[in-house]
Amino acid sequence: MSEPIRQLADLIRRSENTVFFGGAGVSTESGIPDFRSASGLYKARQAYGYPPETLLSRTFFKRRPELFFRYYRENLIARDAKPNAAHLALARMEARGLLRAVVTQNIDGLHQAAGSQNVLELHGSNWRQYCLGCGARYDLDYILRPENWQKGIPLCEACGGTVRPDVVLYEEQLDEDVLAAAALAIAGAQLLIVGGTSLAVYPAAGLLRWFRGENLVLINKTETSYDSQAQLVIHDSIGKVLGEAAAGL
Ligand code: ZN
Repeated sequence: MSEPIRQLADLIRRSENTVFFGGAGVSTESGIPDFRSASGLYKARQAYGYPPETLLSRTFFKRRPELFFRYYRENLIARDAKPNAAHLALARMEARGLLRAVVTQNIDGLHQAAGSQNVLELHGSNWRQYCLGCGARYDLDYILRPENWQKGIPLCEACGGTVRPDVVLYEEQLDEDVLAAAALAIAGAQLLIVGGTSLAVYPAAGLLRWFRGENLVLINKTETSYDSQAQLVIHDSIGKVLGEAAAGL
């Protein structure tokens, strides 16, 4: 185990309230591409004619639902993705009383798949769908069945309304309860581990301002603008770092 990872394990052991805040980098190690990355941006423009921020906006969803759903289905759903070492390590930490909450910007449900219980999903989840007509709830498998689609749009079997993912689109507000719970968790943390995010995207930076604890740890493959404020910075794979740190607890 390298010295920084030993330090991280030490901080986790000594902390009475640890919270993890994660971004897209946590999921990319499960093979889920980051649509905000340079290649994701390029692909969206090439194949769909628009950048992801447009394709995944509320306006676009209303005006061009067929193209919205095509992009969503082809790029944001990873039904067969499996939790990686980072997800598993966090679930193990929580089970052992060493982690209070996971705050995530990801919508893939991989923390729950790994066994994490207290997961605050800032951007919602692919695993939940709801009808805009009658509010009926559906799971992910419902919208993966072709017979539930008509003219490129998944429809409610009860009322025929459009079934949309329970995820936060651009131009939409985050769920207030989830946001408040995330802020509360971060405000109460003694140790905050931030991983797989450059902290450039809203609401990550805003949420970090709530942190009043002792130790901030940043784990990211590249530098972030918060590196100078952290007690410990590790530029490496999040799965490797958390996997090794949790194994040493
Ligand atoms: Zn309905």
